[in-house]
Amino acid sequence: MIREITAKTAITRTKIPVAKYVINPYIGCTFGCLYCYARFIGPFKYTGYKWGKDVLVKTNVAQLVEKELIKTKGDFFLSSICDPYQHMEKKYEMTRKIIQILTSHFRKAHIMTKSNLILRDIDLLKDLSVTLTITTDREDVRKILEPGAPSVEERFETLRKLKEAGIDVSVFVGPVIVMDAEHLAYMLSKYVDRVMLDALNYHRQVQMVYEKYGWTDWLTKDKFLEVVERFERVFGKGSVRY
Ligand code: SF4
Repeated sequence: MIREITAKTAITRTKIPVAKYVINPYIGCTFGCLYCYARFIGPFKYTGYKWGKDVLVKTNVAQLVEKELIKTKGDFFLSSICDPYQHMEKKYEMTRKIIQILTSHFRKAHIMTKSNLILRDIDLLKDLSVTLTITTDREDVRKILEPGAPSVEERFETLRKLKEAGIDVSVFVGPVIVMDAEHLAYMLSKYVDRVMLDALNYHRQVQMVYEKYGWTDWLTKDKFLEVVERFERVFGKGSVRY
């Protein structure tokens, strides 16, 4: 279910390290990652909305950003509780409109996405920084844990094209899920010289699925550290943040 709504505000203060403000053009995310913490936020916590299927579109978000921008000083992050380039963005172009406003006011923004749709906006990204989330090299795992998100291959292709276009792009391997760590690190090292890794923090959401596929050792700290060590072998110690 897609519902268009009129939002009251667009810009929110955030404590995440890369920016002072966050903008979420959508509530909900059709990528539907099983491990996503955002499914327990806002309307999804209190209503029968289904994570991965139902999305609220803030149709007035661009106008709000234009209005609220004057009260802000600092960088922006898109987005904290949705992917700014999820399926809806193709039709509504909310993220594109927001970026147009921010760049026309010479404001810095950090865009984080799993989506190849970002390539549509390559003309707007020159002065921004982009982080592409690539959590695994295994398409079978991606299909189970990130059912609505672009394929592993599409993400690598997106990374390649962003790099080719000279965009400031980095890679986030987070959360660390089931993968061939050495292979993923090697594949990524063709495009970037450093990566950031993050452990999977909300085990309960994926516990049953991990049990079903015999992946439970991937929920341990030791496994995460093993992945870090494999990445360090490829990238070098100082080039893997976690
Ligand atoms: S893409 Fe991000 S926001 Fe969307 S479901 Fe996955 S983890 Fe959550």
